[in-house]
Amino acid sequence: MDKTDILSLPYDELLEYVTGQKEKAFRGKQLYQWMHQHLATSFDDMKNLPKAWREQLTEECSYHVLKPVDLQISQLDGTRKYLFELADGNMVEAVLMHYKHGDSVCISSQVGCKMGCRFCASTLDGWLRNLTPAEMLGQVYSIQRDIWNFRGFEKAPSIGSEEYRNTRISNLVVMGTGEPLDNYDNLLTFIRMLTDEHGLNLSQRSITVSTCGLVPKIHQLAEENLGITLALSLHAPNQEKRMELMPIAKTYEIHDVVDALRSYQKTTGRRVSFEYSLVAGVNDTDADAKELSELIRDIHGHVNLIPVNPIKERDFKSPSHQAALAFQKKLENCGINVTIRREMGRDIDGACGQLRRRHIHS
Ligand code: SAH
Repeated sequence: MDKTDILSLPYDELLEYVTGQKEKAFRGKQLYQWMHQHLATSFDDMKNLPKAWREQLTEECSYHVLKPVDLQISQLDGTRKYLFELADGNMVEAVLMHYKHGDSVCISSQVGCKMGCRFCASTLDGWLRNLTPAEMLGQVYSIQRDIWNFRGFEKAPSIGSEEYRNTRISNLVVMGTGEPLDNYDNLLTFIRMLTDEHGLNLSQRSITVSTCGLVPKIHQLAEENLGITLALSLHAPNQEKRMELMPIAKTYEIHDVVDALRSYQKTTGRRVSFEYSLVAGVNDTDADAKELSELIRDIHGHVNLIPVNPIKERDFKSPSHQAALAFQKKLENCGINVTIRREMGRDIDGACGQLRRRHIHS
């Protein structure tokens, strides 16, 4: 019989599971807190749970803790890039970035990706499988343990303490490998567990999900009553250019995608944002900036410009700093709120999917 993936069970389901084992419900609460607040690394760590029950759990459940098999630390800004091995031997990347306002974590949602964006390394080897909620949480928890560790705590600070609050990650972005809305159900369970008051209890407002634009899923997400931010990878000012860069544009036309964002914003009352990878000679002219501003101006969403991080498999080039600044200025003049994303960890395998790719091809 397959073992129960206990780390993927939301609070209510865990309580049901535990009462089904003829344990009291308060034991379920303790167990959830051990897994999702103290971030215990095994049932053995859970000292206030009866030993016989811990043995039963070990027997019946899988409890795979993600450990980094590679860790790169930027000398420039302290950005940490982790490569984690999953229970089946697959590998995923996640990143920790330090900002003035706190620590921000970027996680992967799938092993590989099937979206095929032309400039992205994550998609070059195709898609292998979805990540479970436990595997998405596992990336966050492993990084959180690392933060405690390098900040000098031997284990999790006591729950509810100032230290716990001050050392907890402050932002999460689902912008690593994979298309999160292509792993919809697991993504939602993951978000609900990460923001559960019995767990790490992140605020939904501190979570951003980035999508290449799966229109039906954007509509579905709008109805979930979540306070998260949605970011759209737009990357082009019109349908023709978008199709050159993103195969998904053949399925969902650019105006339908932008309309889906409009309706997401209207339904949820949450701001949306746009990502735009600047590729020299492809989407970075003054005319592109003008056309882009006309497409999205009424949405008042923030635009993040990301000078493309060149990958050796393609000959896309990043524009010069001046060209990026000029594009920004042009958008601003057209009334768009825009920043050039600060490039973090320039000296490590920065672009999505590069670290994993280097390992699977070595
Ligand atoms: N599938 C989701 C999330 C993953 S990618 C999405 O498409 O939004 C996170 C962001 O990084 C996306 O905007 C993606 O297009 C961008 N990206 C991927 N590779 C890049 C590269 N080499 N240079 C610049 N941006 C890149």
